[in-house]
Amino acid sequence: MNSSDKKTIYVDNAATTAMSKAAIDAMLPYLDGVYGNPSSLHTAGQVAKEALEGFRARIAARLDAEPGEIYFTSGGSESDNQAIRSAAINGAKRGKKHIITTAFEHHAVLHTLKKCEREGFEVTYLDVHENGIVTAEQVADAIRDDTALVTIMFANNEIGTIQPIAEIGAVCREKKVVFHTDAVQAAGHVPVDVKAMNIDMLSLSAHKFHGAKGVGALYVRRGVPINAFIEGGAQEKGRRAGTENLAGIAAMAAALDEACENMASVAKKERALCDRLISGLSKIAHSKLNGDRIRRLPNIVNMCFEGIEGEGLLLHLDDRGICASSGSACTSGSLDPSHVLLALGLPHEVAHGSLRLSLSEATTDADVDAILKAVPDVVAYLRNISPVWEALEKGEKEHLI
Ligand SMILES: *Cc1c(COP(=O)(O)O)cnc(C)c1O
Repeated sequence: MNSSDKKTIYVDNAATTAMSKAAIDAMLPYLDGVYGNPSSLHTAGQVAKEALEGFRARIAARLDAEPGEIYFTSGGSESDNQAIRSAAINGAKRGKKHIITTAFEHHAVLHTLKKCEREGFEVTYLDVHENGIVTAEQVADAIRDDTALVTIMFANNEIGTIQPIAEIGAVCREKKVVFHTDAVQAAGHVPVDVKAMNIDMLSLSAHKFHGAKGVGALYVRRGVPINAFIEGGAQEKGRRAGTENLAGIAAMAAALDEACENMASVAKKERALCDRLISGLSKIAHSKLNGDRIRRLPNIVNMCFEGIEGEGLLLHLDDRGICASSGSACTSGSLDPSHVLLALGLPHEVAHGSLRLSLSEATTDADVDAILKAVPDVVAYLRNISPVWEALEKGEKEHLI
């Protein structure tokens, strides 16, 4: 397998992104220079505090939130945990112990909900349609008098489908149920407006839009109760103790500004590249695009190829300098197929043969050309040595896609 192009083609941006130059530049003064603790009363502390509040206001503005509604956290997982645990505890105080979600959330949501179930909460997992979308009607039908929370992701991290968040938000607001959305894949990629979409709580993570790892935010609408899960100092209005990651927050503000300013042009470019990938890879026999063709993030393509294992495909692509994923980074290393693909109703055998390509503004036409050459070659090679494929070819097994 000799590759003429030695450059790494990184198409795993849903797992994490490279930091942008603007984000790194924004971070540097807080690593080297402004080192005060924002909680200190002296000048060095107050300089840091003023900077912190400036970043909070900038991030809030990008979501159409108020600065006082933004709490800094260590990332998407922490924000999801805090939002859900808090809504559950506050719901239970009013006798509400029912939560609504979908079967294809991120594990930061699903595992938190499992914990709630062990503590006596009842969780309704809405069925996801074959196209990777849940509807506001499904949410409306599932809401009960004792529903404490609806938590539904904005955009799915494996297949990229975008949920009807504004409609779901309208249903929840009308029925006075708290609505949380994990917008980790959406923020900085598609427009997010917490007011217009009636969102009560929203999670985001900087490293998914070219900021640093280990920093994120939780938006909580004023008036919605939010509990602390890390005890200690009075940072973040007592809702999240711990000296703030000022450098990371600086980079997050810069990365979000940059992503929002360039959103339309980047999305246009990514969408064109994804369209090429979808039409090129769909030519592979017995392949399938996962998730809705239209209502999707501009940068994620997820396909299944029958008769192969996703892991084998990834390793061979990596040999050719292509960094991709089979879906969730969190399940890699386990042999279970993705819970997201199973939620769409794909059979286990098919779900095993998945490939996720997640692009960024750095992805080029030449990268797409290289992928469109490598994937069919590797799929053909793997099918050639696959007993499952042999059985399919001999007619001993029925093709499923
Ligand atoms: C990456 C991701 C998370 C976790 O965010 P971290 O900052 O890595 O903890 C949560 N939800 C979704 C949808 C994600 O893609």
